[in-house]
This record gives sequence, C-alpha cells and structure tokens, in this order.
Amino acid sequence: MMLNSAESGTAVRLEKVSFSYREAPFLFDVEFAASKITAIMGPSGSGKSTLLNLVAGFETPQSGRVLIGGADVGTKPPSARPVSMVFQENNLFAHLSVERNVGLGRSPSLRLTEGDHTAIAAALKRVGLAGKQQRLPHELSGGERQRVALARVLVRDRPVLLLDEPFASLGPALRDDMLDLVAGVHAERRMTVLFVTHQPEDAHRIGQDMVFLDNGTVAATGTVADFFTKAGPEAFRRYIGAGP
Ligand code: ADP
Ligand code: MG
Repeated sequence: MMLNSAESGTAVRLEKVSFSYREAPFLFDVEFAASKITAIMGPSGSGKSTLLNLVAGFETPQSGRVLIGGADVGTKPPSARPVSMVFQENNLFAHLSVERNVGLGRSPSLRLTEGDHTAIAAALKRVGLAGKQQRLPHELSGGERQRVALARVLVRDRPVLLLDEPFASLGPALRDDMLDLVAGVHAERRMTVLFVTHQPEDAHRIGQDMVFLDNGTVAATGTVADFFTKAGPEAFRRYIGAGP
C-alpha cells in the first residue's frame, strides 16, 4: 500500500503559532521536513505535547497557521486532518477487541467489511500480532498494546504520524524493538513522523532531524547527528547532561 504523498511527501509547518492555556504563551515557528522522522525533545512542560496537539487539532492556535502539505488545516477537526497519533498510553478502548480497535483506524463505525478484515489482519501481522484479532486489550502486554496502536496507524494510512512518548513506559529492550518497528514502517511508507521522546538514545536510534523545545518555544533545530556532536546546541547538551 503506497501513500498518495509517497513521492512528494507532506511537510508540517507551524507558522508563528501562538497558544496559551492561561499564562505564559507558547510560540512555535518551525517546519518539519516531509518524509523524515523528526525527534522532538525538551524539558517536561516545555510544550512538546501541546505542539503535537496543535498539529492534530486537539488545540487551536490563538494566532498563526498550521500547514500540513501546504494546506491550512486550522479550521479542520482532528478526524479531517491527514494525521494519526499514538499516545504514551490509553490508546485502546478497553471493551473492544484488538480487531475493532484497529478497525477504528479505517472507519468510526464498528461494522467491518471484508476489505477491512483483510487490511486489519495484514496490519496485525506487520506489527507482530498475527492472529490476535479477538483479544481484549487487558489480555495483552503493554508493548503489545502499543503494537495494536501502531496497527491502527497502518490501516488509517495517513501521511503524518504523531508519536507522543509512545514507548516511555516500556523497558529499554522492548523500546528498541518498537523503535525498530517504527523505523521499518517509516522506510516502507515514508510518512512524516513527529516523534516526542525524553530518551536521547531513542532520538538517536531513529531520528533524522531534531527540534529542541524550551520554555514553550523552539530553542534549536538541526540534524540528530549534529545535535549529538560536541558542537551541538548548548541548551540540549545541558538537558541531556553532556556538560557545557
Ligand atoms: P510537555 O509535553 O513538553 O511536557 P505540555 O505541552 O504537556 O509539555 O505542557 C506545557 C505546559 O502547559 C505545562 O506547564 C502544562 O502544565 C501546561 N498544560 C498542558 N496541558 C494543559 C491543560 N490542558 N490546561 C492547562 N495547562 C496545561
Ligand atoms: Mg508531554
């Protein structure tokens, strides 16, 4: 299955986006390169989740524009945006089978067509959960539940993927497996991935570009490779404890 955008790719741009819950406003002015994995890092409370929520449409800018593939999506509800999102937890409906949870990626209705069943089975196979259609979420491990969330992303087949610390609650070995799965899927589909993580090694493992947030704004951007050299941004080096 190829995305329509597979050749050109879909850039994500926040153009002078301001937003505030109450006090200190966030200001984001940044572009995420089409078809790349951009790691987003920064201290707790720096605005990482808020940035993703603005792209997904769960929050609306007070001013500025959110552009996805050049189109202003500012007035579109989340379901009409070309994005899918995986959260740290609570991605699944507890009372629905794995198959129905994945099926929600294709249609909000719980009625599944023959084509849906086929697509769901293929997606579950791709994430290593072949044959687990009828399980309930509580019958799966934490890592398996995140695999189900990824399978839903696969059947949804959107050009932009937002990951908000999706594997933060998993141990290091399992996290590496999941990261490699994301990297593999990205190599196949070339979606534009915004990957929020607080683990430098995770950013290093699958990230190509990096956006570093501090105090509700973009403090530094560059390639992941550059960030991890001695010449990387000082605020980032301080954050990961690499010294001045
Ligand atoms: P991060 O994901 O980088 O840890 P967030 O984007 O979640 O940061 O939050 C940034 C700031 O906004 C924090 O100070 C947080 O307390 C505040 N905040 C987040 N969500 C809300 C909300 N729904 N209502 C009020 N304040 C919020
Ligand atoms: Mg967050």
